[in-house]
Amino acid sequence: MALLQDNIKTIKGIGEKKAQAFAKLGVVTLYDLLSFFPRRYEDRSLVVPIAGAEDGANVCISAVVADEPRLARIRRGMELVKFKVFDDSGMLEVTYFNQSWMKNNISRGEEYVFYGRMECKGQRRTMANPVYEKADAPRGVTGRIMPVYPMSRGLTQKVIAQSVRSGLDACVQQLPEPIPAELMQRLKLAGAAYAYENVHFPADFEALRQARRRLVFEELFLLACALERQRAGRVEKPGLRFGAPDMEAFYARLPFSPTGAQKRAVREALADMASGRAMNRLLQGDVGSGKTLCAAALAWAAHRNGSMTAFMAPTEILAEQHCKTLTGLLAPLGMRVEKLTGAMTVREKHAVKRALADGEIDLLVGTHALFTDDVVYPRLGLVITDEQHRFGVGQRAALAAKSETVHMLVMSATPIPRTLALIIYGDLDVSILDEMPPGRQKVDTFAVDSRYRERLNGFIRRQAENGNQVYVVCPAVEESENESMLSLKSAERTAEELQAALPELRIACVHGRMKPKEKDAVMDGFTRGETDVLVSTTVIEVGVDVPNATLMIVENAERFGLSQLHQLRGRVGRGRDKSYCVLVSDAQNEEAKARLGILCETNDGFRIAEEDLRLRGPGDFFGARQHGLPEMHIADLGADTGILKAAKAEADAIFASDPLLERAEHAALRKRVESMLRDESITLN
Ligand code: ADP
Ligand code: MG
Repeated sequence: MALLQDNIKTIKGIGEKKAQAFAKLGVVTLYDLLSFFPRRYEDRSLVVPIAGAEDGANVCISAVVADEPRLARIRRGMELVKFKVFDDSGMLEVTYFNQSWMKNNISRGEEYVFYGRMECKGQRRTMANPVYEKADAPRGVTGRIMPVYPMSRGLTQKVIAQSVRSGLDACVQQLPEPIPAELMQRLKLAGAAYAYENVHFPADFEALRQARRRLVFEELFLLACALERQRAGRVEKPGLRFGAPDMEAFYARLPFSPTGAQKRAVREALADMASGRAMNRLLQGDVGSGKTLCAAALAWAAHRNGSMTAFMAPTEILAEQHCKTLTGLLAPLGMRVEKLTGAMTVREKHAVKRALADGEIDLLVGTHALFTDDVVYPRLGLVITDEQHRFGVGQRAALAAKSETVHMLVMSATPIPRTLALIIYGDLDVSILDEMPPGRQKVDTFAVDSRYRERLNGFIRRQAENGNQVYVVCPAVEESENESMLSLKSAERTAEELQAALPELRIACVHGRMKPKEKDAVMDGFTRGETDVLVSTTVIEVGVDVPNATLMIVENAERFGLSQLHQLRGRVGRGRDKSYCVLVSDAQNEEAKARLGILCETNDGFRIAEEDLRLRGPGDFFGARQHGLPEMHIADLGADTGILKAAKAEADAIFASDPLLERAEHAALRKRVESMLRDESITLN
């Protein structure tokens, strides 16, 4: 008998090739296969009379073949098999393209069920390439709700569905039941066998709803439990105990006075650092809310306590920028600020590492190069990470290893919707900058299509004539993308076109394929005001600070996430002059238009983040799984927030009374949670 943990090759019909294709989808064992859920469903449950089907509807009809199927060659390389079928209500013409074998598969006088798209032209009804099976055979692919699975090369829907069917038949009864019985009853959750059967092959839509509800609950509940268990097992790290210095002395030296929110965030962090425990705090603030100043204040406080600070930025450009800003703020107070990035020459790096080891550096700003093995910190007290969701999980782990008793502050400009924060940042304390520095203005935002190109160019010219600068951002074009992507405007081509249209302007271009040195040179030129227009891919997305820039144009804006666009827009409106953002998009679909409309409507980063999450789901929201959140099999964190809250509440309740899951009724739960925590593919924050 096959077991859940057996390899899928035990299923008849799955050999080495198919197993490899399944492996690409993360499916190796039978349990993986049962947990490989459909992406959507096709409703083939409705069997209608031929005459009753509407034009364009996807329907099943049950009908008898009226004539011998005929094979015709209409053009070179194009073959047709055609025949007529009828039921009590009428006649239908069925056609198969380039499937000559259908001539022999279909027999005159036999009854079949066909599923396909009905097309009506006058009296004539036709259906092309329908799915079919014999009417007197058990319903396999017609007359029911069909699962549609995510695909991989080498697998068809049919193969996947058949494999899942065999897997279910072999071991649906072995599925463990990790949810405690009391909870199952109280929340009226479907049992495991029922849920797995009906999520793949729903008996009807209500069965599907119940199956899904249970599986979503299970997934979120187990995740919440794993996080709880991890927290319960963690000993609070002892931290350096900092005395609180007189921050007013620091604030008094600034060119402006800090906002109330900035002061509060600094106070909260200082209290952590004075507590004797290691700080683990998230500083969350919309673009432009002034997170850098808080970082500077805390680096200064560390310095006053005899400790040094490491500040990690996600890109070379940002490290450079932060280094400048922080030097400007801290050098006058007697601190030595240096930079360490991968792009520096071996010699430069060596000099910095030497000075670091000698204890001469008070604040080291850099990319992840800061945490390679040969960098030795003699008196590290504080680690600050900027825009933390851009760092891979591995990089964060390396950072954590270097900083045992060290205080940690992560800064994020992506406002995380509350429900999600509950899970991702469950073990971080959070400070929020909910107040913008004075003088920061609303960026007027417009969505236009490319018919506005000339007016847009005029607008660019006017900004430049006023002595202001302009950003033009294009989506990054990957070489692997297919030809339909060629209509996307690459940064280089956009720069050429702009230069042709506006020959008197100084236009520069920066993109991901350039060497770091070249990028830096172009960015420097823009920062110093030597270029009027900077055309770029999203390398400038985070943190770049040029107050003189007043216009942000985003090409193919539909290709960006809302939060990303909001971040981009935050690059302008930083100085005194009125600033604008223009989103250029020729996308016709309503959803794309609605999304861009939200940006024109509001400047509230939280609202935008919630909409973004709702529209795109958390995977895209964070990009490339860099958020450290385990991949969800079935739960949709944007839509299933009700279940998420319930799952979290139930997990909390269980851990409150049985923190180590020692009770008999929690044995199955404990086993599952422990295996989740062992599984390295799940990285929990
Ligand atoms: P972000 O939170 O996006 O990192 P920054 O730290 O880059 O924001 O700050 C945005 C801009 O606001 C910078 O030009 C900075 O000098 C300025 N700024 C920060 N705090 C204040 C303040 N309290 N008053 C006036 N300007 C400020
Ligand atoms: Mg910033």
